[in-house]
Formats: sequence, C-alpha cells, structure tokens
Amino acid sequence: MNAELIAVGTELLMGQIANTNAQYLSQRMAEIGIAVYHHAVVGDNLERAQKALGIAKQRGANVIILCGGLGPTEDDLTRQVVASFLGKTLNLSDEIVEHIRSFYTYRGREMPENNKQQALVIEGATVLDNPRGTAPGQYIEADGVHYFLLPGPPAELKGMYQEQVLPILRHVQGAAKQVFASRYLHTFNIGESSLELKIKDIIESQSNPTVAPYASEAGCTIRLTASAATEDEARALITPVEKAIRERIGHYVYGIDDETLPVKPGLLLREKGQRVVTAESCTGGMIGQMLTDVSGCSDYFYGSVVAYDNTIKERVLGVDPQVLREHGAVSEETAKQMAEGARKLMGVEWAISVTGIAGPGGGTPEKPVGLVYIGVAGPGGTTVGEHRLFGDRTQVRLRAARTALHSLIE
Ligand code: ATP
Ligand code: MG
Repeated sequence: MNAELIAVGTELLMGQIANTNAQYLSQRMAEIGIAVYHHAVVGDNLERAQKALGIAKQRGANVIILCGGLGPTEDDLTRQVVASFLGKTLNLSDEIVEHIRSFYTYRGREMPENNKQQALVIEGATVLDNPRGTAPGQYIEADGVHYFLLPGPPAELKGMYQEQVLPILRHVQGAAKQVFASRYLHTFNIGESSLELKIKDIIESQSNPTVAPYASEAGCTIRLTASAATEDEARALITPVEKAIRERIGHYVYGIDDETLPVKPGLLLREKGQRVVTAESCTGGMIGQMLTDVSGCSDYFYGSVVAYDNTIKERVLGVDPQVLREHGAVSEETAKQMAEGARKLMGVEWAISVTGIAGPGGGTPEKPVGLVYIGVAGPGGTTVGEHRLFGDRTQVRLRAARTALHSLIE
C-alpha cells in the first residue's frame, strides 16, 4: 500500500502556515507501514486541485488523503473537487446540518446559512464525525483507491485520524493480510550521524524489521518496523534486533514508544509518588510548559518560579546575594541555590533549575552564549551540570529546557 497526501489551501502556498498536517500524517502512516510516496500542496482552486488528484491516482497511490478546504466559505472546495473528480453528486445531509447547528447553539450563536455547505456528502461516501469542529470528514473508495477528506485545523485532523481514519486503514490493510508493528527508541545526547555509525551494520543487514534513525525534536529516535501475519509475530521479529541495538547504544536510550521527553520524567515521578517544581531563568517557563503539555501532569508537577531578574532569584528563591556578586547569575553556585531554594519554597521532592546565556548578546569569552547550568535538587542532594549548547536564542532555550528534563530522568 502506498499513499499520497494532498494539502489544500492557498495559505500553505503563500507560506503563511507550514504543512504540519502532512508531517503528522506521514509519521502516523510510517507507524503502520504505509509508504507515503508523495506530498502535494495545492491552492484553493478547483481545477488545480482536481489535477493534483489525477496525478496522485496516476502515480499509483492506493490511499489519497486530502486535508483542508472543508470549511463553510466559498474557497472551501475539497468536497466539490473529489465529487467531480469521481463523477459523483453532492447531497445535503440533514443529520450533519443538525450537528453543525448544535455546535453553534452550544456556543449561544446562530448557524450562518453558508455552513450548510459543510453538510454536503459525496454520493456513496462514509461520513467521518468531527466532535472537535463543524466540518465532518469523508471517506470513499473508488476504483481500488481509498480517498479521505480531512479538515485543515490540526487538532480536528489529528482526532479524526486516530479515531476514524486509522481503523479504516487497518481494515484495508487487513484485507491485504499484513500487519505492521513499530517500536521507537528515543535517545538523547547523541547526534544522528554518530548514532547511525554505531549501528550501521544492523541497519544495513535488516529488512524486516526495517531500522530507521531520524532526528526528532528532542534528540534522535530509532524506529523499528516489522510486518508479519499477526502483530505478535511482527513484535517477535523486532525483539532480537532491538536487543542488538541496545547492546551498542542502550545508555543513550531514555524512553520507548510514547515515552518522549516531557512524558518520561512524569512516568518516573508518578511511579515513585514524587513531585517536581522548576526554577527557570533563561528558559522563562518553557520547562513548566513542556511538563504541562502532558495531560495528567498535576499528579507530579507542582509549579514554577520564573526568576529572570536577580532580585527574584534572591527574594523568592533565596539565592545568596554574595553568590550572585561573586559568581554571577550564570554559574554553578547560582543554579544550585536556585534549585535548592525552589525545592524548599514549594515543599516537594524535586526541583530543576536553569540559568544560562541564551544570546544573541550577553556572552563573554569566559561565559559564552549557550553556556547553561542546570541544577537538580532531590532527596539525595543537589547536582549541577554545565552545558555548552549551540544555536540561536530559541534553540538554546529549547535545548536547555529539554536537557533539564533529561537531567531529571538521570
Ligand atoms: P475551516 O472550517 O477552519 O475553514 P477547513 O477544513 O476548511 O477548516 P482550511 O480552511 O483549509 O481547513 O484550514 C483551516 C486552518 O487549519 C488553517 O488556517 C490552518 O491554521 C490550519 N491548516 C490547514 N491546513 C493545514 C496544514 N496542511 N497543516 C497545518 N495546518 C493547517
Ligand atoms: Mg477553510
């Protein structure tokens, strides 16, 4: 099976937004072993969108996923594009009109008349419910090609993919009598090329599972994907290869599958019934944000102090003014006292602190841009790590926040 993704929207072509839906869908397809051969982006134009569909079909895609253009306005054309491409009619569904109306009623508003356009269903298509928005998706099979029409807003698209597209794809794959299983190994502190070198022979000698390292946001991830008649058999093929990889680079692996960087520390804390707080200078609350991105984090995340100015480091966190004068805000001693101060102030088991020079200004030969101290205060004492991070201001801050989360795991 192979797929092509067609994103519809002039705003994508004009560079106003990035095509993150394609990124998301490609990742999900890889997980279940569907090869995505092409991404296309086309503006809100009937003729060109139809051409894009024609090309995708000609290229031999079995699955074509269109996203965007399901809204209520004049330029939302995707329904029409697919209907006329397949030579089908569009029919108004009263049920969907009512769903959309209820969406407006709930928010105390009246449904605008043009919203009815969203209730047009391609003859023979299955409606994919959209509990997160007004535009339902649609699925239709024609000539052995599976077409999905999904809404543009990423939160709606993701929910619809997980809940409704995935089961259909699984079913279609089932008919092809092949099941895929994937395993992800998340690493930190090792670059993609070094990682690849260390396991090059394994990557090259394997075809089932395939072994694919890739750079992800927080580090490098190794994906192992196997196919077999059943999921258990596919997993059994992965196990020995995973073991061989771990023998080489196991100490870099901090999490598997869903255990990404903000998730993993939470799992460990919850297991121990312990809590964490943060004291952040140059990251300005990013660690707190990353931790609170995970639902259920209230079990272990208690709060943050953003201590940007030295007066806050002193007055709120109790950092010794003399330490600040002698060693500076960006120093091992300050990071240590920030972490210890936050731990005491907020009365929990763990505290992470970050103080560093994010740039672009403020660096000196002794303390260059990218120098970051990360403190971890816990029941067994406090450790501080000195890190030299690279990149622009945003990258330094993001890397500092992730390194801090990783320090908590260690
Ligand atoms: P709406 O009902 O909001 O109009 P729609 O299905 O018509 O939904 P679009 O109008 O194409 O979708 O896009 C709505 C918004 O969704 C865009 O402004 C953008 O923020 C986001 N969006 C659309 N396509 C993509 C994409 N490929 N990647 C990321 N975000 C996207
Ligand atoms: Mg729209």
